[in-house]
Amino acid sequence: MPEEHRIILKHADEPDYTRDIDCYLKHGGYEILQKAFKMKPDEIHQEVMDSGLRGRGGAGFPTGLKWKFLDRKSGKPIYLVCNADESEPGTFKDKQIMYKDPHQLIEGMIISAFSIQAKQAFIYIRGEFFEGARILEEAIEEARAKKFLGENILNSGFSCDIVVHRGAGAYICGEETGLIESLEGKRPYPRIKPPYFPAVLGLYQSPTIVNNVETLCNVKHIVEMTGKEFSKIGSPGNTGTRIWCVSGHVQKPGYYEFPCGGLTMGEMINEVCGGLMPGRKLKAIIPGGSSAKVLRADERFKGKLKDGSEFDWGIWDIPLDFDGPAAAGSMSGSGGIIIMDDSTDIVQALSNITAFYAHESCGQCTPCREGVQWMRKISKRMCGGDAREEDADLLLSIANQIEGRTICAFGEAAAWPVQSFVDKFKDEFKAYAETSPVSSESGDKQLV
Ligand code: SF4
Repeated sequence: MPEEHRIILKHADEPDYTRDIDCYLKHGGYEILQKAFKMKPDEIHQEVMDSGLRGRGGAGFPTGLKWKFLDRKSGKPIYLVCNADESEPGTFKDKQIMYKDPHQLIEGMIISAFSIQAKQAFIYIRGEFFEGARILEEAIEEARAKKFLGENILNSGFSCDIVVHRGAGAYICGEETGLIESLEGKRPYPRIKPPYFPAVLGLYQSPTIVNNVETLCNVKHIVEMTGKEFSKIGSPGNTGTRIWCVSGHVQKPGYYEFPCGGLTMGEMINEVCGGLMPGRKLKAIIPGGSSAKVLRADERFKGKLKDGSEFDWGIWDIPLDFDGPAAAGSMSGSGGIIIMDDSTDIVQALSNITAFYAHESCGQCTPCREGVQWMRKISKRMCGGDAREEDADLLLSIANQIEGRTICAFGEAAAWPVQSFVDKFKDEFKAYAETSPVSSESGDKQLV
């Protein structure tokens, strides 16, 4: 069975590991910060570039490159924002880090803030994480008391503080410009890019870096082991470890940390997670949180990888890294793998997903605001016993008109599940219409 390689979650589940600062210090806590202060900010940035670290929040954008876009000449203050708004259904890794090892995040943030020269940092935490906000505030207090935060940290000449800001429970606050709006005290309407790239015009119209919790924790380990050593974990373009969250129909759901590409989907599900429930067969997998396209158990995935090599995979062969699920036509997203066995009602599953996105649209642009509501109403009606022959095509048509026509990527997040579920399980949508107690011929022509 593949062995976990825990870097970020190293101490998370140790029975004698407590999240207070004394325990953290006993395990070498804040020593890497002292090492970082002996380096120049640009040297840390170079280590992050060399590491090949990609963001762990969903898009997988190279972290060092993101930092490079920072407008350092504006004369305005630079801000660092930790995106702790983990809201993607199927993803629950950042919560583990914050709840079990908050000082790891704080140390990673101070090092990152020093590298980009941000004197003020924020942790924007998901509104539902009441306990997480309390834990982080307590940990920040502890760090302040030991002079790891505040003025002239450890006599380095660098000053920085962190503020915890609680969201009010909106998924769209995970989108970095929506998050910034919310942090400014406004409705979280995502901004149009360009011109509002956060690295240039972010928080309070100032240069801002927004990074995910797991990403910022990795910065600490990059400084500890050097970027070059970090890049040897995983494979080129997919470096470091990733925390995968596995949920659904497996015997041992949970979070697991492995080198990127260190195992296949089959090894994860059948060995690490103990396999499917007895007597069940796999029906489908969503590999990267609910917004990722679904993959059918009997699909074959063929094509060329970035390095030019050809692949021909079944679902179990997909490598768990950034590029594997993408090559299979989906994405690794935020690392939330959702397993569906043959007991799953696909139309019902899609109805649940569309209900979520309909609830979470910010309503700023018409295709998303109206389209996701229609997708919800139609899928709900289908599940309520009034499915019609034309529904599958209607759902597809709405999703196609949302994709690519919205201000932020939420449009795609809502459209992709619909497109892939309908496209790959058309037979099930058809069967729903054929067996529906209220058919389109019944005389009830109400659309929803
Ligand atoms: Fe808001 Fe949806 Fe438009 Fe994004 S795509 S800005 S969530 S309405």
